[in-house]
Amino acid sequence: MANVVVVGAQWGDEGKGKIVDWLSIEADIVVRFQGGHNAGHTLVIGNQTYKLALLPSGIVRPGKLSVIGNGVVLDPRHLIEEIAKLGAQGVAVSPANLKIAENVTLILALHRELDAHRESSTTEGLKIGTTKRGIGPAYEDKVGRRAIRLMDLAEPDSLDQKIARLLAHHDPLRRGLGLEPVSAQAIRAELDSVAPAVLPFMDATWDLLETARRDGKRILFEGAQGALLDVDHGTYPFVTSSNTVAANAATGSGLGPKAIGYVLGIAKAYTTRVGGGPFPTELLDAIGERIGDRGHEFGTNTGRRRRCGWFDSVLVRQTVKTSGIDGIALTKLDILDGFEEIKVCVGYHLDGARIDRLPASQAAQARVAPIYETIEGWEGTTAGARSWAELPAQAIKYVRRIEELIEAPVALLSTSPERADTILVHNPFRD
Ligand code: IMP
Repeated sequence: MANVVVVGAQWGDEGKGKIVDWLSIEADIVVRFQGGHNAGHTLVIGNQTYKLALLPSGIVRPGKLSVIGNGVVLDPRHLIEEIAKLGAQGVAVSPANLKIAENVTLILALHRELDAHRESSTTEGLKIGTTKRGIGPAYEDKVGRRAIRLMDLAEPDSLDQKIARLLAHHDPLRRGLGLEPVSAQAIRAELDSVAPAVLPFMDATWDLLETARRDGKRILFEGAQGALLDVDHGTYPFVTSSNTVAANAATGSGLGPKAIGYVLGIAKAYTTRVGGGPFPTELLDAIGERIGDRGHEFGTNTGRRRRCGWFDSVLVRQTVKTSGIDGIALTKLDILDGFEEIKVCVGYHLDGARIDRLPASQAAQARVAPIYETIEGWEGTTAGARSWAELPAQAIKYVRRIEELIEAPVALLSTSPERADTILVHNPFRD
């Protein structure tokens, strides 16, 4: 029985929340393995809408265990708020249904402040349109070996020493940036105030997951953001600070690569991105606006309007490879209902030559021009369809062409935010 990893195949916001929720029926455990509360997953269940940023999507399902793995950066203050918000919607979160890796890195107030400060900078190239949640600065401290981790809260005697280690980096940095110093006492107070609420969730989650795996439990790894925001494989430097590709599900949860199983990539039937950076198929015209309005393309967390464009098969074919995607869940096809014609990017022109992948250089990424294939649109609607038979023939043609171009099959087709409006071709858990 394969475990399943769900990753975004574009720049995030592909509708992973719904798919993870749909798959979580068959899973015993749902694991977040990277990112933090920069993610935004919207789940629509019956007449309730849940907006999650940090907690795994399995949390809204009774009887499922949710795990925040070591690869995540965790803002304890946000965690407490998100748990309270869900509580108000009738979802109880307790150590019985949520476990957090003891070695997870914490996001502190100074990380949020540094993130926001950089984003307000006028220095060319510094501002990249982050979520200002402190994600990047927290990962910097992790790899710089000076982060405060969850288990440090359980060892109050050595906490001041760790705070001093952290400030040995941040003090000169803040002085240089003209920011007020942060006192060690303020950080200590920040940590002491959250410790009682978060420590009960702490566990050796790598061990718990390995035991569950041996017991035949099904694990669903829930990626956040998308493969093109990966710090190695994405549109650097316009990326997030973690590896978002599927392979990180292993490192970010403490399991070996063989634990992964089936890799399901989620792709929208068109393309969106938030924040800065290259976007070859971006539509800065009325069509882009129409897609954005129809698709409600506003950030779940930040409310920012997303940039919209045609489906880019070059990019998705690339992420199929960098994430080892076995099958795709195609979402929001209904947003294209009623378009007379639809374009799909099938290659790029770069300095007079035709290329079939995104170049790695930042300057070249900004220069590529999309080569389009035009496909006839369809009359009628795909919204709410639950079988292929309900889809207009031309819509099926569009899906088949995408499969061909990205070199991966469509395993699932999502036709509305409602969980049941899903066409299943291949069940990833039954590989
Ligand atoms: P950060 O992750 O807040 O550091 O932001 C880095 C880049 O990733 C920015 O372009 C953000 O807009 C983008 N980003 C971060 N999280 C998400 C997400 O969940 N969906 C889409 N874009 C995201």
